[in-house]
Amino acid sequence: MSALNQPVLKLTDITLEYPDGDGIVTALDRVTLDVAAGEFLSLIGPSGSGKSSLLAVAATLVTPTGGTVLIDGVDATGLRDAARTALRRDKVGIIFQQPNLLASLTALEQLVIVDHLRGDSLRAAREKAAQLLDVVGLAGSAGKRPHQLSGGQRQRVNIARALMGDPSVLLVDEPTAALDHERSDSIVRLLRRVTDTFSVATVMVTHDTEFVPLTDSVASMRDGVLAAARPVGV
Ligand code: ADP
Ligand code: MG
Repeated sequence: MSALNQPVLKLTDITLEYPDGDGIVTALDRVTLDVAAGEFLSLIGPSGSGKSSLLAVAATLVTPTGGTVLIDGVDATGLRDAARTALRRDKVGIIFQQPNLLASLTALEQLVIVDHLRGDSLRAAREKAAQLLDVVGLAGSAGKRPHQLSGGQRQRVNIARALMGDPSVLLVDEPTAALDHERSDSIVRLLRRVTDTFSVATVMVTHDTEFVPLTDSVASMRDGVLAAARPVGV
């Protein structure tokens, strides 16, 4: 494997158990998954099969019971809280189903504050935010607040915001669940384009298998067990 194709997200033998009354529920059962830079992977499977749990572990938001999470070669499971938070901030973009935008801020400001909190100058943050709004097709809406944007436009702001930190890994949980078909299609196409443009390793949880052909590979979960990813179309 060439250096270019080294996985930037490497989950190895991940187990995640939650307490459940007197027993435990195994949300992830020895899950192994590699995602390379520029690869767009669909993660499918029934409700409750562990898809969101897998994203939470990959995002380093939840520490697994067992196994390792490597992001750009760094083992997140071996880090202290502060170092893990820094790794997440520098390497991981997270896009949930609901955009969670702040009601009082404009589209541009939603992006600027996350970068400014990272320590960039306000001016650099504003320039980068404007560029990313352009990438997601919202150059003309930079001054709009969430209530002035459509659901699809809010999800585009959410995607642009996740890109502000130049992530290596993009984790996306059912980005189209609240959108109609046409808007869903354009959101998945946008994720395809940003995956290519920024060479991120993208994992998208989706229940819409019709969007799988826009991705490179597909892996399916059932009862916490992940079947090996396979290339789309094979
Ligand atoms: P999916 O995203 O595929 O619907 P989840 O990852 O949300 O699946 O859930 C996988 C399993 O883990 C389910 O049985 C769910 O009830 C359980 N689970 C998820 N989060 C928690 C939690 N915070 N505490 C206890 N059980 C949880
Ligand atoms: Mg889920």
